[in-house]
Amino acid sequence: MNVIDLRSDTVTHPSRAMRDAMYKAEVGDDVYGEDPTVNRLQKLAAERTGKEAALFVPSGTMGNFISLLTHCTRGDEAIIGSHSHIALHEQGGAATLGGIYLKTARNAADGTLALDEIEDLISKGDDDHVATTRLVCLENTWNGRVLTSEYLDSAVALARKHDLKMHLDGARIFNAAVALNCPVAELCKHFDSIQFCLSKGLASPTGSMICGSREFIHKAKRNRKMVGGGMRQIGIIAAAGIVSLEQMVDRLAEDHANARLLSEGLAGVPGIKLDPESVETNMVIFGLDPAIGMTPVQFVTELEVAGVRMIDLDRHRVRAVTHFGIEKEHIEKAVEATKSVLSRLLSGSRK
Ligand SMILES: *Cc1c(COP(=O)(O)O)cnc(C)c1O
Repeated sequence: MNVIDLRSDTVTHPSRAMRDAMYKAEVGDDVYGEDPTVNRLQKLAAERTGKEAALFVPSGTMGNFISLLTHCTRGDEAIIGSHSHIALHEQGGAATLGGIYLKTARNAADGTLALDEIEDLISKGDDDHVATTRLVCLENTWNGRVLTSEYLDSAVALARKHDLKMHLDGARIFNAAVALNCPVAELCKHFDSIQFCLSKGLASPTGSMICGSREFIHKAKRNRKMVGGGMRQIGIIAAAGIVSLEQMVDRLAEDHANARLLSEGLAGVPGIKLDPESVETNMVIFGLDPAIGMTPVQFVTELEVAGVRMIDLDRHRVRAVTHFGIEKEHIEKAVEATKSVLSRLLSGSRK
C-alpha cells in the first residue's frame, strides 16, 4: 500500500528536472568559491530576496546558527519566539555552541510576537547586570501562519529604535509570499539576514540559503567553515536548488489549495476541532475532541494503520502538511481515513 505522507513537506522527493540538473551540473571546489553552479544559485537567491549576496549551507538549522553567530558575539543576547524553531527544534545550539543568550517572547496564535513584550525584553542602557541585546528573530511562516508586511513594518521600526538587527527564519518564506501574492523580496526587505530552506516545499534533497549584505555574507562564510559547513563539489546539490527557485515556487499555490481542501474536509469530521480560517498556507493543525479519549500520538498511530501519516505537533494537536507529490485524490483519501478511524473510536467498537 502506498502511504500518504502528510507529516511534513521535508518528505518531498526531488523532481525529474532536479535529477536531470544534478546529473549535468558543472562543479568546482566551493570552499574556494569555484563551483559555478553554487555561484549561480547564490546569485539567484540574493536576487529573489532582494539582498546583495547569499550563501549555500547544508541545512536550515545551520543557516540559523551561522546567522546568529555572525550577528552576535559570546554573551550577546537574541530575542526569539517562545515556540519558534530556534527555541524548540535546534537543541538550543546558538546558546550551547555559540554562547548566545536566547530570550523568548510568546508566539501568539498567528505567529506574531507582541511588540510591547519584545520591548520589555530588550536590555536597556549600560548596566553591568544585563547582557547586550543584539538581535530579534522572527519566523515566517510559523506553523503555517503568515506574518504580514504591516506587522513586519512595525516590528522593524521597534528593532531600529533600539539599534537591533533583525534575522528572519524564513524556512517557508516562499509559502508566505505565494499566500500574500507578493514578491518574496517584499517580506525580506526589513531583515539584515534571512535563512530559507530549499528542502521543504521547494522539494530539493537538502540545503538552505542565507541572504544578506555582502559584508554579512562574507563573515557568514567564515563561520560556515568554522562549523564544518564548507562543502566541495556541492554544485551537484545546488543544481536542484536552482530548479527549486525557478520551477517550484509558483506551484506552492497547489499545496495551499490542497491544505484548504483538507481543512474543510477534516472540519466536517466528528471528533476533530479545527478552524479552517487558521489555514493560510500548507499546514493544517487540529485538535481532537476530548470525548474521543485519545492523545495525538495514539491518533497518528491509528491513522498510519489506515495508510495516512500525520504528526503529533504537541500534547494537544495534530499536524498535516501538503507538499509536492500530494494530489487532490490523496486529500480525499486522508479525509476518509480520518473519518473511519474516528468513527470507530467514537462508536466505541474498538478496545
Ligand atoms: C525545517 C526548519 C528549519 C531547519 O531546517 P533543517 O534543514 O531541517 O535544519 C528551521 N526553521 C524552520 C521554521 C523550519 O521549519
